[in-house]
Amino acid sequence: MIVQKFGGTSLATVTRIREVARQVAQARAAHDAVVVVVSAMGRQTDELVALARGITTEPSRRELDMLLTAGERISMSLMSMALNAIGTPAISFTGSQSGIITDTQHTRAKIVALRPIRIDEELQRGKVVIVAGFQGVSPEKEVTTLGRGGSDTTAVALAARLGAKMCEIFTDVQGVYTADPRIVSDARLLSMISYDEMVQLAASGSRVLHPRSVDLARTYKIPLWVRSSFNWNRGTLVTDGDKMESVVVTGVTSETDIAKVAIKSVPDKPGVAAIIFQALATARVNIKFIIQSIGESGHKDITVLVPSDQLSEALDAMESIVDHVEAAGVLGESDIGRVSIVGAGMAMTPGVAATMFEALASHGINIDLINTSEIRIDCIIGRNRVADAVAVLHGAFGLNRLERKESSP
Ligand code: ASP
Ligand code: MG
Repeated sequence: MIVQKFGGTSLATVTRIREVARQVAQARAAHDAVVVVVSAMGRQTDELVALARGITTEPSRRELDMLLTAGERISMSLMSMALNAIGTPAISFTGSQSGIITDTQHTRAKIVALRPIRIDEELQRGKVVIVAGFQGVSPEKEVTTLGRGGSDTTAVALAARLGAKMCEIFTDVQGVYTADPRIVSDARLLSMISYDEMVQLAASGSRVLHPRSVDLARTYKIPLWVRSSFNWNRGTLVTDGDKMESVVVTGVTSETDIAKVAIKSVPDKPGVAAIIFQALATARVNIKFIIQSIGESGHKDITVLVPSDQLSEALDAMESIVDHVEAAGVLGESDIGRVSIVGAGMAMTPGVAATMFEALASHGINIDLINTSEIRIDCIIGRNRVADAVAVLHGAFGLNRLERKESSP
């Protein structure tokens, strides 16, 4: 069996839905069983969010979930109708009917269990099962959503649970590129990428896949195909990385919707960091990155990066404890961005960081903060230089010309 997921642009119009249905019917003819996971049509989720904001600036998260899940309910039923209309028996299910059990965190729920009893029954009957992406039901019987872009995660979770031999993610791009083709004109389509690299790319700004879906695919070893539903080409296979050690740097990503908050000259004693991060946690701020300076004379600075839209909450939280921890002050900065390089071979190859920093320096791009992990290096720079930096690094690592070796020597 296989799982196929279709994103919003793939289903934006009735014509598109009928076209996708024809492809699903072909897939059904070629496989024993097909489960289709759908996103809401076009930009419908954004439109629903806008409707809510027209009512109130702070809609309750429960009601937001009730509203947003309606989008997938529309596309799933239309898809099922389209398949039945061409003679391919199909049935649609909401997340709840599909047995997707989540925790109780509205608008950012995590899947805790899958009980796809009805899916199994209908697959046994030979039907294509259409599942509404991005939604589930909590143990309190409340409808929840998995966070924006969560349909990918629905698809991979079902693929793992149902024992699918692969999960195809159909989207409006050709697959995974060495950099965002809108920023770098000679970005190359990758035919293959390892789970580890894809996890880092997804976490660091490549918007092709929902990060949690890649994590799940890696854990359960589900081969993921990222493909276009506009030309049905092969796209990019995300799979085990053992054949890819020859590649040092695989891709460059960036992010501009981040902001920086620093608390200055914090006394260097036990418990202070705990107070600061407790305040941020209470304010429900998502921390993307923490840096603590070495400091001097018993004081240090603590800097955190947060999503741009959480800057004011983060500042308020820091201000609320600045006197209590006897720090000198709080500072916020929003005109920053991040550029990152990702590559499985980086850990074994000396000089990668030096090449990155030199390339940025030679274009006058100042590095504010640096973060490294085994297969990724992040630099925080001025927001207005992010696009330049992506292009510079793409060139510096020869990503436009390097042909990726797909088999080991
Ligand atoms: N429709 C939802 C969104 O736009 C979920 C998804 O597309 O994966 O975020
Ligand atoms: Mg999406």
